[in-house]
Amino acid sequence: MTIENELTAPQNLLQQNFSLNGQLAVVTGGGSGIGFYISQCMVAAGARVVITGRREDVLKATAETLGDQVSYFVNDITKLSTIPDLVAAIEEAHGPIDILVNNAGINMKKHAVEVTDEDFDRVIQTNLHAVFSMTREVGKRMVERKRGSVIMITSMAALYGIDRVVAYTASKSAIGGMVKALTTEFSPYNVRVNAIAPGFIETPMMLTAMNGDPSRRDKAMDRTPMATWGKPDDIGWAAVFLASPAAKFITGVSLPVDGGNSIGF
Ligand code: NDP
Repeated sequence: MTIENELTAPQNLLQQNFSLNGQLAVVTGGGSGIGFYISQCMVAAGARVVITGRREDVLKATAETLGDQVSYFVNDITKLSTIPDLVAAIEEAHGPIDILVNNAGINMKKHAVEVTDEDFDRVIQTNLHAVFSMTREVGKRMVERKRGSVIMITSMAALYGIDRVVAYTASKSAIGGMVKALTTEFSPYNVRVNAIAPGFIETPMMLTAMNGDPSRRDKAMDRTPMATWGKPDDIGWAAVFLASPAAKFITGVSLPVDGGNSIGF
């Protein structure tokens, strides 16, 4: 313990280390599902948040619900050529981005032999290539300023083989590798890169993937030692932690938030 810490009241230490006061976060796909709760938790921790997505009505409703700290930009991240302008516009309007959460993603549940080239490209473009392009554009600004935190939202599919999600699994696994490669390049500039690997979280994406089939839902719970579904704010609080000063020595990791799935099915 440093002398500085000894002189600081415990509640102040807590506030200093877990607060995102004064920070600007960008959450892609922040209008709905897990992204909504990541944004809400970041606002609760004191950050200003910019959310992005394709559906303006959804983004507007979320910004109104979460309050003045939240703004939105309508953007389709698969339109890769628009990303540099998007990042520039966000910084022009709100100042330097301190935290990037690459949350937007799509799933596609099909047997591998039925996945077309177009299907595969669509998933890779959304879940992988757009994540790289966003990270490159925001990352170059963070590197220049010598501060920043990038958080990827991957999946337990990146840790295991799961049937009928071949393109999704490929995209999320590749991000695990990207986190490690970026860590080697960004760490000297005080820019941290981490991932969160959610387990079974109750969101529209997951419920659609389960197709309302109770047996699939039961199977998911059989694979979860805590035998319960995760809530989207479980991912939100993990993101706050990874972005906060409390995690200032944590980079290059993939944090499972999954009720124990990661011990192995
Ligand atoms: P949802 O389908 O509920 O939300 C996905 C979000 O991504 C939406 O806000 C959507 O906004 C946005 N999005 C999708 N495509 C694009 C695009 N081309 N451009 C911009 N935004 C886009 O999914 P979840 O909340 O469940 O998932 C969020 C993340 O968590 C994903 O990366 C997913 O892979 C991951 N995850 C989820 C799990 C779960 O249990 N739910 C488990 C493991 C991982 P819009 O439609 O307006 O563009």
